[in-house]
Amino acid sequence: MGCIFCKIVSGEIPSDKVYEDEKILAFRDLNPEAPQHVLIIPKVHLTSISEATDEHIELLGYMQIKIAEIAKKLGVDQSGFRIVANTGDEGGQTVHHLHYHLLGGRFMQWPPG
Ligand code: AMP
Repeated sequence: MGCIFCKIVSGEIPSDKVYEDEKILAFRDLNPEAPQHVLIIPKVHLTSISEATDEHIELLGYMQIKIAEIAKKLGVDQSGFRIVANTGDEGGQTVHHLHYHLLGGRFMQWPPG
């Protein structure tokens, strides 16, 4: 399969890992939009949140909790951070493997534009 994030999971494509366990992987974005910009992905291929079903409830909950831990590890848990899941074409998703962007280390404007 041609999924770039599946290739990162398998190690075929290298990544700057921040956290890894049997369910998820977190690695630094190649083109950071903030001093701290990490992508958190499930190891199993799931295209986006739009394709999530009841069978993913545990995994998605797990990811939220781990994101909080990763934010702490990055030192942005107290200052604040943003998590974003671009979904589908109009949502700005370019890699079609579910991922949360964790952005921190600077003030985040709202609305994002
Ligand atoms: P999105 O546009 O929300 O689908 O986000 C995809 C993100 O993946 C972008 O921010 C890219 O910079 C990032 N990206 C693409 N390829 C890689 C890679 N090989 N390693 C790290 N980040 C990547």
